[in-house]
Amino acid sequence: MHEVYAGRVLQGAGARALVPDEVGRLGARRVLVVAAPSSAEAAQDLATGLGERYAATFGRPAQHSPVEVTAEALSLAREVRADAMVAIGGGSAIGLSKALAIRTGMPQVAVPTTYAGSEATPVLGETENGVKTTRRDPALAPGTVVYDPELTLTMPRGLTLTSALNALAHSVEALWDIEASAATRAYAVESADGILTALPVVLDRLSDVAARSRLQEAAWLAGACLAQARMGLHHQLAHALGGSYGLPHAELHALLLPRVMRFNLAEAPDAAARLARLADGDPARAVSALAARHDGPTTLGALGLPRTALREVAERVAASPYPNPRPVTADAVEELLLAAWRGELVR
Ligand code: NAD
Repeated sequence: MHEVYAGRVLQGAGARALVPDEVGRLGARRVLVVAAPSSAEAAQDLATGLGERYAATFGRPAQHSPVEVTAEALSLAREVRADAMVAIGGGSAIGLSKALAIRTGMPQVAVPTTYAGSEATPVLGETENGVKTTRRDPALAPGTVVYDPELTLTMPRGLTLTSALNALAHSVEALWDIEASAATRAYAVESADGILTALPVVLDRLSDVAARSRLQEAAWLAGACLAQARMGLHHQLAHALGGSYGLPHAELHALLLPRVMRFNLAEAPDAAARLARLADGDPARAVSALAARHDGPTTLGALGLPRTALREVAERVAASPYPNPRPVTADAVEELLLAAWRGELVR
C-alpha cells in the first residue's frame, strides 16, 4: 500500500503570503497560530494577513511534544474558540499542531521552517513522564503544507546541518526497509540525492535561496519517506534517547546516522549500492564527514548523555526492536552508542 499525505503542497520563495488564502479555502473563521519563538516575526505578519480571522498565537511549542504543553495550548484554543490552525516553525511547532488536531479535529496548515519533515507525516511522538511514544493516524497529517525557502534563511549553520541530516535519516531508513514501495524508494533516492548535493552548497552559502529551496524540496520528499516506510534502528534510538534524556532532536539524528548506517548497510546491499552511487563513495563515511562539520556538540557525551545510560538504552531497544535489516542485540547497540558517545569518526 502507498499512501500520500498533505493533499495540497505550495512551494516557492514568498509562498507564505498565500497562507491566508489557504485558510480561506478551509472556511476557517478563528485561526490559532502555533509558532516557534524563532518564527515570531513571520507569525506576526501572518496574524496581520489573517485580519479578522486571526484568533490567537501560542508561541511556546517544545521538542518531543510534552503532553503538559499540549494541555496549555488546548486550553488557549478552547478559550478563543479556534476552528483551524496554522503551524509555523520546526518539528516542535508542527508536532504541537498535530497534537491539537487529534484532540479537536481542527484542520491544519503547516509552514515548516526546518528540514525535520513532520509536516509530511501522519506520525506524532509525544512525551509523558519521560517516555516518548509514537502514534500513526491519518488524522494527524496537515492537509496543506506551504514550503517557503525564505523562512529557512534564518537557520544557523549548525541547525541547517543537523536538520538536513535528520531529513537524510528518513530517506536512508526508507531505503533499507524491504517492505517500502517502489514509489517510496524513488522518493528516498531523490531526497537523499538532493540533500547530499544541496547541503554542502548551503553550508558554504547560508543565504543562497535557490540552494535552500533545493534542500527544502529534498526534505519534503524525505518527510514523505518517513510517512510511508517503517522506521528502523536509527529512529528507534533517536526516540529512546530524545524522549528519555531530553536530547536535542536534530543533533541526535546527525550524530547517530553515520554509525547506524555503518551497522546496517553491511546487511542492506541494495540500499548500500544506491547510497554509494549518490555519495560517490562510502556513504557512512561521507555522512560522518558531513556530521563532523557541525559547530556544536558531535558526541552523545557532549550532548549531556551519561555514560551509564548506554546499556539501559541498548537493552530497552534490543528488547523490542523496530523492523531493521540487521538483527539488533543489546551488545551491538551498546557498542554503536559508545562510539557515538565518544564521537569516533566512521571510517
Ligand atoms: P524544533 O522545531 O524544536 O526547532 C529547534 C530550534 O530551532 C527551536 O529553537 C526553533 O525555534 C528554532 N528554529 C526553527 N526554525 C528556525 C529557523 N528557520 N531559523 C532559526 N531558528 C529556527 O526542531 P526540529 O528539529 O525541527 O523538530 C524536532 C521535533 O520534531 C521533535 O520533537 C521531533 O520528535 C519532531 N519530529 C516529528 C516528526 C514526525 O513525523 N512526527 C518528524 C521529524 C521531527
